[in-house]
Amino acid sequence: MPLLDLLPSVCWVCHAWPSQAICPDCVQRFASPQPRCQRCALPLTQALTQALTQASPLCPSCLDLGGLHAPDRSDALDSCTACVDYDFPWASCVVDFKFHQAPAWAPVFAALMQLNPLLEAQLESVAHVLPMPLSKASLRERGYNQALELARALSPERTRPHWLMKLRETAPQSELKGAARLRNLHGALALEPLVQRQIEGARVLLVDDVMTTGTTLREAAQRLRQCGASEVHAAVFARTLAPGSGWES
Ligand SMILES: [Zn+2]
Ligand SMILES: [Zn+2]
Repeated sequence: MPLLDLLPSVCWVCHAWPSQAICPDCVQRFASPQPRCQRCALPLTQALTQALTQASPLCPSCLDLGGLHAPDRSDALDSCTACVDYDFPWASCVVDFKFHQAPAWAPVFAALMQLNPLLEAQLESVAHVLPMPLSKASLRERGYNQALELARALSPERTRPHWLMKLRETAPQSELKGAARLRNLHGALALEPLVQRQIEGARVLLVDDVMTTGTTLREAAQRLRQCGASEVHAAVFARTLAPGSGWES
């Protein structure tokens, strides 16, 4: 697997040398695909996985509430895949990716995400891959949208860079709770009017680096549904385990 020839010549995690950005041993140890709820992407315990025999395993919360721990937006996302937990060692890689001018992590994360056969199948079946947008102010500050870098690394042909737009700056979702998260996002995401026709009847994949509670992804999915998308899936690199413990764009 071509896991990056750039960045360090030592493994970011164990400092093995010479190495790709993450050495094969660390990939094996920290990024092996694990069973996750197909709605909220939280890890499923082994016992629960074994108990669930249906094709689309859901965690108890998603089963109870009809999806994604938030009944009001429960059906906007058809599925969500995550590659790793937002935890050691990935949290520091994501911070580097996002805040330290290191877009070169994108192909590394994308290669790890593509170890998941479900995501591979989705990348084949969707018409459009939409990165979660940054506001203009954040984009100016950072110089690149990390979600766009990731989307391009996953599917250069199907990535639509500017279809989803963030119209204004919002408070970090990780600092808010429940209904405040929804209020914070209300009206902040929009779809480029000129492309709405192309969304009609289409399968769409949303891409982001980190998912905290999924409110932002569900809000985007809702917009796409309103424009007639037939299916909306999401793929993220890292999933936070405890709400509020991480970053969310
Ligand atoms: Zn290593
Ligand atoms: Zn779930």
